[in-house]
Amino acid sequence: MNRLFSPWRSEYISSFRLETKDGSCLFCSVAKSKKDAENLVVYRGKTCFAIMNLYPYNSGHMMVVPYRHTSNLSDLSAKENAEALSLTAKMIGIIQEVMKPQGFNMGANLGRAAGAGIDQHLHFHLVPRWNGDTNFMPTLADTKLVSEDIGRTYKKLKRALNR
Ligand SMILES: [Zn+2]
Repeated sequence: MNRLFSPWRSEYISSFRLETKDGSCLFCSVAKSKKDAENLVVYRGKTCFAIMNLYPYNSGHMMVVPYRHTSNLSDLSAKENAEALSLTAKMIGIIQEVMKPQGFNMGANLGRAAGAGIDQHLHFHLVPRWNGDTNFMPTLADTKLVSEDIGRTYKKLKRALNR
């Protein structure tokens, strides 16, 4: 099997569900919303928030999203850049504690051509990995069964964060 590893492509194929009803930006509406549990927002920082991917590649698949609506990495301020990275590190720590993965993939898809489901609003993916988890990947489809219910994972991560 000779294919490029692309842990967040599942977001692309399910992107039709990542639009809000009025076609406005999903991340902006989540940022403004007070319904964090419903939206699977795990943590809110000053300039960025962390949200679980509703269509995860793996259990614990998370995204770190600047509140500010921009598609340009170079638009981010030093503060936003710094918090995006420090919040990613914080989430790695929490996921490690709760889910004990053996590794992580982190990164961004910049632009539709790169597979971004929401290409107008920057977001950074964080995907926990376990040895052998790719064995479960269907060879033709990019979706796979995620072993743990996302709601349960959300609660566990929130509990660990509040400790
Ligand atoms: Zn936005």
